[in-house]
Order: sequence, then structure tokens, then C-alpha cells
Amino acid sequence: MEFIEPHAHMIFRTTDDYQQLALTGCVAIAEPVFWAGSDRLSADSFEDYFRQLTESEPRRAAQFGIQHYAYLCINPKEGNNRELARAVIERIPKFLSRPNVIGIGEIGLNRNTRNELETFKDHVALALEYSQLILIHTPILEDKLKGTRLIIRALQSFKNLNPKRVMIDNAEEHTIGMIRDSGFRCGLTLYPDTKMSYSRAVDIVEIFGTEGIYVNSACDWGKSVPMAVPRFVTEMRRRKHPEESIRKVVFDNPMAFLSQSTNFRVPSPKALAGLVGKDQAGR
Ligand SMILES: [Zn+2]
Repeated sequence: MEFIEPHAHMIFRTTDDYQQLALTGCVAIAEPVFWAGSDRLSADSFEDYFRQLTESEPRRAAQFGIQHYAYLCINPKEGNNRELARAVIERIPKFLSRPNVIGIGEIGLNRNTRNELETFKDHVALALEYSQLILIHTPILEDKLKGTRLIIRALQSFKNLNPKRVMIDNAEEHTIGMIRDSGFRCGLTLYPDTKMSYSRAVDIVEIFGTEGIYVNSACDWGKSVPMAVPRFVTEMRRRKHPEESIRKVVFDNPMAFLSQSTNFRVPSPKALAGLVGKDQAGR
């Protein structure tokens, strides 16, 4: 089944992962900014990262017929450093006109600090100023409920914000209700141990339905599974869900969300063939 991976950190993954994603039906990937494992020392490092996300990564994906899109920001963990955050945010606008940039993300909270919240609001203001989509990370474990509440309250303080243009990720049973009731889109992050198993994600779809819900691997340099979305498809089939319900979660919903960016192109075999051809010719 064709699917869209709406949240993956491919910069940290191998070419074999791209190949496996293509073989299992992936046609497009959206890649937000992530912590590199150690804090970056300057805004220059982020600028190099943004160039990689907007120049080399789309070329790498295109070799496998996969469209690549990017969200830009300073991630929540490093966003606690206000001085660095301000310097990075200043440099984002010049990248927003690049053809694969669709939004600001993944922003949000890590430890629910005051600094993180200020950096989060700066990013939301930037996204609104430049009509960008927003991808949000919510904190893990004990900080999740409080963090999700803080995030929703902060978002609602922006009166001109359209909640349909905001995807709140890492949602769980106790946060899905408040995310969807506030009109935001809701992402389930399929992590092997610490977050969401495939069967738990299918349980959630059975309880909450498919409206406004999507799944992603959020694969990065840590323990994660790039093929998490096709594994979710397998679990849905094992539990006898109809193909159209599965397609809604792994293709229709992410496509509807991402299509709100004028830079997003609906994946089609013809367009993909064009992308591959362009990449080879440009080498
Ligand atoms: Zn992520």
C-alpha cells in the first residue's frame, strides 16, 4: 500500500532505509529538525543542517522515487537556550522559500520550562508570519499531559491560527481527546519500546476512529524503526480493518494535512518518475 511518512529524521538513516521505504510503498517523507545527540554550539551549525535538509536530503530521497519535504526550527531541547534560539530563528526565513520546505517543526516542549515555552511561541509567530504548517513534539512520559496542555493553551493564544494547519505528535490515549477537541491534527509516533506499539496504535484507531489521525515512525539515530508505518498497516490488516480505513490513516490524512502547503505535490507515478530523472540528470 502507498503511504506517506509524515515524520522521519532521514538525515540519520542509511540509504538502505530509503530503499526499504520505497519497496514498502513510501512515496513521500516529511523531515523535521531533531537533536543531534549533543547540543550544537552555534546558529551556523543549524544553518548547515537546514542546507542538508533542503539540498542533499531531497536528492537522496529522489533516487528512490520518494518526495522529500522539510520542516525547519530549533528543536525543543536546544530551544531552552534562548540566546541560541533567537539566533537560529533569525536565520530561518531565508530558507522558507526553498521548494521542499513546508513548515516549522518539530517545535514544542521537552521539559516544560519557561524558556522552552518562549521559544515555542516565537516559532508559532514565525509560522504564522510566513504561512507555514506547524509540527509539534509533545514531551514524553510524566511531562506529556502537562506539556500538551501548555502547548494547546499557547497555540490558542494566537487568534489567527488555523488548528487544521497544526499537527501535534507523540499523542497518547490521555491526550488525543484534548488535541482533537481543539481542532488540531493528531499524530501517533510508533516507537518499538518507549512510545507506541503497533497494536496499541490500532487499539487507539479502534477507540477514536480515523478522523484527523495519522501515524509516523519518527525514526532517528536512536532505537527506532523506519518501516513502522508498513508494520502498522500489517497489524491493521491482521485485525481485519478495511483497506480504505488503513489508507485513510497512512495516506489520505497525511496528504490532506501536507497539501495545505503550496510546496507539497500530490505524489503520482508520473511525478515520481520525473523526480528520479531530474536527479540523475543533475548529477
Ligand atoms: Zn522527531
